[in-house]
Amino acid sequence: MARIELSNIQKKWGAFWGVRDVNIDIADEEFIVFLGPSGCGKTTTMRMIAGLENPSEGEIRMDGEVMNDIDARDRDVAMVFQGYALYPNMSIYENIRFPLRMRGVPKAEQDAAVRRAAELVELTDYLDRKPGALSGGQRQRAALARAIVRQPQVFLMDEPLSNLDAKLRQAMRVQIKHIQRELKITTVYVTHDQIEAMTLADRIVIMQSGAIQQIGTPDEIYNDPANTFVASFIGAPPMNLIEGRLSGGTFEAPGIRVEGLPGAHDGQVTLGVRPEDCRVTAEGAHLGGDVYGVEPTGDVTYLTLKVGESLVEVKADRAYRAALGQGESVRFDPDRIYLFETGSGQRLR
Ligand code: ATP
Repeated sequence: MARIELSNIQKKWGAFWGVRDVNIDIADEEFIVFLGPSGCGKTTTMRMIAGLENPSEGEIRMDGEVMNDIDARDRDVAMVFQGYALYPNMSIYENIRFPLRMRGVPKAEQDAAVRRAAELVELTDYLDRKPGALSGGQRQRAALARAIVRQPQVFLMDEPLSNLDAKLRQAMRVQIKHIQRELKITTVYVTHDQIEAMTLADRIVIMQSGAIQQIGTPDEIYNDPANTFVASFIGAPPMNLIEGRLSGGTFEAPGIRVEGLPGAHDGQVTLGVRPEDCRVTAEGAHLGGDVYGVEPTGDVTYLTLKVGESLVEVKADRAYRAALGQGESVRFDPDRIYLFETGSGQRLR
């Protein structure tokens, strides 16, 4: 069992708040991803769970036991960082075995555990090599094996894939998730990459400026964003956010008119619509603009329209092509239109 509770966690350095009012209950076996831009406080939160940093206020509990005064080495957590931190002079075998030696695990058990971990990350044939003789992905897997070798209660991973190229990152994501599911170890994973967060997490915690913006499953975060920060952080290209006026359920901005939007008060609002919920068509169009850019990617073509002073992104058919400056009309999926309060960014509808 490894349930982790963070209650009213604050971290201050002098007058600077690194982390504020963090409350989260992480279930046993859950895969939690802390997501946010650089400096939002995600690493600090993870370091507090690890015991490498003390909260200024609040309580950290693991399985009900208060951890605040428990030393990092006495917490049953294993960490993987972006630099891997393998010992260059030791073989991969020795590297993976290291945590077991430190903990005085009997020799016979050590060998079996190293081989099991190596098998899990598919490094059995590389155990005799030094880290310098491995590829980036293999080194990453060795670091993972070193973390899982002693079957800790909790995995903590801080941007473990950020040094890898895109293809390898995708492959490693699948491995990490597979291993986590197989070992059923509660995992806290820190990243600024929304794709990693969406694909790995049971629940995502989105942070900005030290504070949690939203906690939810990837589906909840994607379909039901609490505010414009969350809405624009998840999704690529991000949600279009267009400022305008709402009056009697009709939204208007230069080049845009959408009727039938009840549920929000009249006044200045921000309309949100994802590029994939926009369709190029003159029929029932909500928006008219001029083609500003066309980006074919193979399976989809991204169209950028200049609408008034704003640029609006549309995910068009793969075969879509158009000349720059050409006029184009777009209809939004009426069930997928969001409204936010302009200013605070809070969701209205
Ligand atoms: P990144 O993705 O860049 O690693 P992060 O979200 O993990 O960012 P943290 O490392 O948690 O961010 O830092 C949160 C804030 O606290 C930052 O503004 C950082 O400068 C500040 N901070 C971190 N450690 C200290 C420290 N020891 N003293 C003072 N400020 C700190």
